[in-house]
Amino acid sequence: MFVEPAVEAVDALVERLKRRGWRLTAQRRVVAEVLAGEHVHLTADEVYGRARRRLPEISLATVYNTLNELVDMGEVLEIATGDGPKRYDPNTTVAHHHLHCVSCGALRDVNPEGADRLVLPPRQQHGFELLDVDIVFRGRCPRCRAGAVAAPAAAG
Ligand SMILES: [Zn+2]
Ligand SMILES: [Zn+2]
Repeated sequence: MFVEPAVEAVDALVERLKRRGWRLTAQRRVVAEVLAGEHVHLTADEVYGRARRRLPEISLATVYNTLNELVDMGEVLEIATGDGPKRYDPNTTVAHHHLHCVSCGALRDVNPEGADRLVLPPRQQHGFELLDVDIVFRGRCPRCRAGAVAAPAAAG
């Protein structure tokens, strides 16, 4: 099922890119729009699949290059979740945490209650300058619970 990206999220990312003076070609724009969908973070292959439906001539290389540029600019975060492929998170301006399906690797944004009060006592900071914290809730998504998704490829 193809879900149209949330308008606010698209604007946020595309607007940020415009403000930076990033040259917004049709291809770059499609990648940015696809990424900003629904607070679900996609793999490069998923971004490519969705981008191609809007712009059939786009290549996988262009998608990878664009994702890497966005990551280098700090406008998109790369998120590694265990053995699976990296996922791309466009929501860099609002603090949030993640819900991860251990079966299919789906990753989405969540705002858990009580997370704002999570603190690391000074004794446990070990001299680090703390920058941020990312909480990952792990479980199985509705599709995997329903048995609708094939088992993940064996690791290693
Ligand atoms: Zn799943
Ligand atoms: Zn996120």
